Amino acid sequence: MNRKKQPLYKRIIVKLFGKFYYFYVTNFRRDIMKKSLSLRRGECNHCGVCCKGCPNLLKNNDCKFWYRGNCDNQCLMFPVFPYQIEFNSEDVRNNCGYYWEEKDKSWLSKNKI
Ligand code: SF4
Ligand code: SF4
Repeated sequence: MNRKKQPLYKRIIVKLFGKFYYFYVTNFRRDIMKKSLSLRRGECNHCGVCCKGCPNLLKNNDCKFWYRGNCDNQCLMFPVFPYQIEFNSEDVRNNCGYYWEEKDKSWLSKNKI
């Protein structure tokens, strides 16, 4: 899936505020998180690029925490929002098997999600 690179100014804004927003939503606004996840399409193809460099990444590209049944980790839910793919590295943009349909992305952004 080839997704185009976003403009620099937007990437800077997302870099500055994206992580705070994600922390806020996953901890205090689970309703928003669940809505966005319900609109997510596709599936994880285990490419492992979103976990690049993490010491918990196993050789088969699985996360070792999966085997402990600990799925409440923020990064295990990745991606929760379209921006987490679209404003990510080229590897993630091109390889991630998840996506949101355009109509759902507009719904999310209209509702400031
Ligand atoms: S899901 Fe999180 S903890 Fe697991 S390998 Fe990926 S980045 Fe690391
Ligand atoms: S980038 Fe997407 S498809 Fe690849 S391992 Fe991460 S969540 Fe799965």
